[in-house]
Amino acid sequence: MAHTDPTVTDRTFDIGRIRELFPILAQRVGDKPLAYLDNAATTQKPRPVLEALSRYYASENANIHRGVYALSQRATDAYEGARGKVARFLNAAEPAEIIFTRNATEGINLVAQTFGRQQVGDGDEVVISTMEHHSNIVPWQMLCEEKGARLRVVPLTDSGELMLDELASLLGPRTKLLSIVHMSNSLGTINPVRRVVELAHAQGVPVLVDGSQAAYHMPVDVQALGCDFYVVTGHKLYGPTGIGALYGRRELLDAMPPYQGGGDMISSVTFERTTYNEVPHKFEAGTPHIAGAIGLGAAVDFIAGVGFDAITAHERPLLQYATAALETVPGLRLIGTASDKASILSFVLDGVHAHDIGTIVDTEGVAIRTGHHCTQPVMERFGVPATARASLAMYSTTMEIDQLVAALTKVREVFG
Ligand SMILES: *Cc1c(COP(=O)(O)O)cnc(C)c1O
Repeated sequence: MAHTDPTVTDRTFDIGRIRELFPILAQRVGDKPLAYLDNAATTQKPRPVLEALSRYYASENANIHRGVYALSQRATDAYEGARGKVARFLNAAEPAEIIFTRNATEGINLVAQTFGRQQVGDGDEVVISTMEHHSNIVPWQMLCEEKGARLRVVPLTDSGELMLDELASLLGPRTKLLSIVHMSNSLGTINPVRRVVELAHAQGVPVLVDGSQAAYHMPVDVQALGCDFYVVTGHKLYGPTGIGALYGRRELLDAMPPYQGGGDMISSVTFERTTYNEVPHKFEAGTPHIAGAIGLGAAVDFIAGVGFDAITAHERPLLQYATAALETVPGLRLIGTASDKASILSFVLDGVHAHDIGTIVDTEGVAIRTGHHCTQPVMERFGVPATARASLAMYSTTMEIDQLVAALTKVREVFG
């Protein structure tokens, strides 16, 4: 994937220069510098994304498709151009395999409500894992309830890895879909998706991958993974909120019924009969989030410009640094210690509720998330009500980790 971005011309990673591209990071919380360590919930936005949004509204705004005048054509080109950028970013075979959605959650619901309702029947099964985000649990629960199908769940090891043997044994002739997260948002575990896809395809089972976390930490190549569907969410890709993308293999998308009815998804309408537009438009009813898509296009170009080699070369040692630093805090236990993990540090502190950790470190300028992280079954699996979670991004620094550890020392002082 050889993209270039004019804002990041030299490929050597300069953390100071990277941080300057994210204006929000320079602010202070009270008299403390902001240490933003909640990237797994949402990432900050770099100037090229902010500029793409304001440029669009200042000079290109018009409704897309069907407009014959120049401005509408420019807006259409920018929107469809963004689709091409996302297709390249995920290495889809063609832009038509990219459907713009509101977020990852909508991508999963789209598949559940179209492919799922068409394919899953009474007595069938859908397989997910214990480490799924609620967004990759509830849509399947709803579908299974409607269809009289059964949701099967792959268990986890004590370090937070998928039990692959169990996964293989859950797949069978009744399995209509396997839906699995690429990288866990509460454990950091990176799942061996390629291997999982092989196991599933050997049984004729299509695979949806939730790439909400993976896509901003590592290169994703949907063709190399071999998956059938892949969802991403713009706001975690350094892009805008309210925009996401669903990748689907063309032949599956072609065979799927539409999701919502309305404008743009039709080819003709009479009261007797409506015929549907082709993919991807068949799945994009109504005026889409045009600016969001353009912002997402700028975001994936920005990421590709920085390069995943540089990003992982920065984030991987930082995770090691943070892991070692947190392990020095008395009474701290990390949840999620998979051998293959990235950029997420979930932990509990003896005798302190996660919520209190979050509140006290906030007074030191440190933004971390506390709670169940929309993965309640993970909390249950590890026997904790909640965790505190620090999560890294390309602009995270050892100084921010030090600030977190110092703040945790304060927490220890308060709670004795
Ligand atoms: C954030 C996240 C989601 C949901 O993303 P939305 O943008 O809220 O749709 C789903 N799965 C994982 C693993 C996530 O991290």
